[in-house]
Amino acid sequence: MRAEILTIGDELCRGEIVDTNSSWLAAKLWDLSITTRWMTSCLDDAADITAAVTLAVSRADLVLCSGGLGPTEDDLTVDVLAALVGSDPVIDEPHRAKMEAWLAKRVVDPATPASAGALHLGPSAPPAGIMQIQLRQVRVPRGARVHPNPMGLAPGFEVAVRGVPVICMPGVPRELHAIWDAGLEARLREARGDTAEQIARRIYRVFGRGESQISQVCRGIVDDVPGASIHYQVKFPETLVKIVIRDRDRAAAEARLAAVDPEIRRRLPGHLYGDGDENLIGKVVRRLIENQRTLATAESCTGGMIGELVTSIAGSSKAYVGGAITYANAEKVRQLGVSPATLDAHGAVSEETVREMAAGARERFGADLTVAVSGVAGPDGGTPDKPVGTVWLAIASGQGVTTKKITWPGTRDQVRTLASWWALRMIDEANV
Ligand code: ATP
Ligand code: MG
Repeated sequence: MRAEILTIGDELCRGEIVDTNSSWLAAKLWDLSITTRWMTSCLDDAADITAAVTLAVSRADLVLCSGGLGPTEDDLTVDVLAALVGSDPVIDEPHRAKMEAWLAKRVVDPATPASAGALHLGPSAPPAGIMQIQLRQVRVPRGARVHPNPMGLAPGFEVAVRGVPVICMPGVPRELHAIWDAGLEARLREARGDTAEQIARRIYRVFGRGESQISQVCRGIVDDVPGASIHYQVKFPETLVKIVIRDRDRAAAEARLAAVDPEIRRRLPGHLYGDGDENLIGKVVRRLIENQRTLATAESCTGGMIGELVTSIAGSSKAYVGGAITYANAEKVRQLGVSPATLDAHGAVSEETVREMAAGARERFGADLTVAVSGVAGPDGGTPDKPVGTVWLAIASGQGVTTKKITWPGTRDQVRTLASWWALRMIDEANV
């Protein structure tokens, strides 16, 4: 089944908002084994919407549209779709009733004295002009199948244009999601049917190797597997390797996926840290909690980023004790007990310094594991022997201190993010 997603809106085409509806819908369709072959965006312009829908139904078996269902004059989707199917817009009574109830709770009653409060939550009707405008958003093309909107006033609807289902939803993401959950997903599952091609897939998460190196290592891995393809996605600083296998028989697709799995793992030793939806941050925190280990951080060039990543995971308080952001040398001495002589002799970005930072943090925070980072994030401050992108890391645990140096010239943002992820990777390796 070939799907097209059409997002409608001036703001999209002017670059004022990011089209998250397309990616959200494409991911949902993908979960249903429906492939999105085209994604189009167009202005709130009747001729352009007409042209876009006409093209979409000429090449796709299913068209999902978002946007332009609101109450204002620039919301044209209902009118355009009605014209395309040779009908006219009509009020959807259940949504009109819901809208009237919604408005009745929100009118300002002119009869209420100001002293009683301007906003009167009473049963008086809104002024006729307002009502006329509001009614625009509860219209659907006559004969359309309505997809109820549990989160807003404008209903979603479905019409067949030249025999192709065209499903229109509001642009507001939470309304679109609610319509999907309330019944659209079930409707598409039914439209797709059981005979449709099934997709088995797995995401492998790789950190510490670039996309080109990974693709070289994985070359040919699915060449002899029927219906299989391999895809790479850089999600800096990690790379996702996705294996997709298509077959009419789900069990057969899953079996072929299971057969490829050991070969992937064999080819990516050391850099493959997990699979599925959980990324490195989630994995590290989960395993610390499972192993009942505590963590503290000692950060210089990352300025608290490791602590921020760790605490972004719900439940991290069970493992994360806290950290010290020691940007200035004096703070490395004061908060972590780094020796001034070490700093003088080797500098802040050195193996000796991160060793003392990690050990000092472990002693002062009383954590099982501590990680320390010090580096040259740039764009200034590089020297011939410590260029921008030089980062020293150390992990201290009951087994002693382990260090690592990375050199990865990049933007300041990239160096700091990469350093934070390397710190997580070292925790991951140490926390066995
Ligand atoms: P409204 O009743 O708000 O007018 P609508 O169905 O007419 O709803 P739009 O006017 O196209 O939808 O968009 C409403 C808001 O929804 C936009 O201002 C924007 O914030 C958001 N939105 C619209 N389209 C998208 C999209 N493709 N991706 C993400 N957000 C979107
Ligand atoms: Mg609108």
